[in-house]
Amino acid sequence: MRTQYTFTDPTSLYADIQAHPDDQTEPGLDHELRDRADLGEDTYTGSGRLSGRKALVTGADSGIGAATVIAFAREGADVALAYLPQEQVDAERVAGIAREAGVAVALLPGDLTDKVYAQGLPDRAVAELGGLDILVNNAGKQIFNDDLTTLPDEQFEQTFTVNVDAMFWITKAALPHLPAGATIINTTSVQAYSPSDILVDYASTKATINAFTKALAQQLAPKGIRVNAVAPGPIWTPLQVTDGQPPSAISEFGQATPLGRMGQPAELAPAYVFLASAESSYVLGETLNVNGGMPTP
Ligand code: NAD
Ligand code: MG
Repeated sequence: MRTQYTFTDPTSLYADIQAHPDDQTEPGLDHELRDRADLGEDTYTGSGRLSGRKALVTGADSGIGAATVIAFAREGADVALAYLPQEQVDAERVAGIAREAGVAVALLPGDLTDKVYAQGLPDRAVAELGGLDILVNNAGKQIFNDDLTTLPDEQFEQTFTVNVDAMFWITKAALPHLPAGATIINTTSVQAYSPSDILVDYASTKATINAFTKALAQQLAPKGIRVNAVAPGPIWTPLQVTDGQPPSAISEFGQATPLGRMGQPAELAPAYVFLASAESSYVLGETLNVNGGMPTP
């Protein structure tokens, strides 16, 4: 059986998973991707790196968030999953896999554009899990647009609300619960520094997330709370087939990276585990790029 430790040529890994322009409607479902993404279900092997920890993960039903939940659970962390109500099927599948690891799992559906819901998430995670010491702000909205004059004001606002405002609301509400040793991990993107012409609004939110992460990391360092970010490159998730990219671009998704392929959510999870675990005790304000080799600042 292959695990995340199996010696493998990264250029040929996942040659069996093809990107198809399924063109689902937002938010999209993992279980409806024609070639299913790898969330690490059959490969991720834990070794107690997050034993006894308690995590809240947004966008936890699918893609990168789901792979992170599976990895956290197998490393021994209890997990609370936030996601949209329309994603219940994906969320329950991931929750089931996490429960098989023997940890506590809480399901907290809702819409992050609802400030009251977002602000209430940390309290609810604490109530369900008995504490909170890992926060992963991972939910994201990405809709391509190739002409600023046709970019709806509502889209611009909602992309900022989901990607930036909700991260602020949740983090602010989580802080009173977080003990020294706790970790916050935000999901930014290679778009933060290599923005695409068709992702003006989305790329701007990701640059904001990077700056938020690096500023807050300094502020919270004296309290012993570490803040970091993960910056994925092109990863096969529902985000991309729900107009994250033009459907015509999907078949070549990721091929421009030095590795010549898109990444899988399972390849992101170890980055979140590293930043969540005490093994990264001297790493803060860092952006860990997991992008197939694209140069970053
Ligand atoms: P995904 O579609 O699996 O996950 C995104 C999640 O965001 C959804 O599952 C949904 O639960 C959540 N979400 C969106 N709008 C929401 C709302 N209004 N309320 C509550 N939840 C909402 O896709 P993914 O690619 O795994 O995305 C996870 C993160 O990774 C996002 O922040 C995304 O910007 C980032 N990212 C993805 C890629 C990529 O290529 N897939 C690249 C760089 C960064
Ligand atoms: Mg989803």
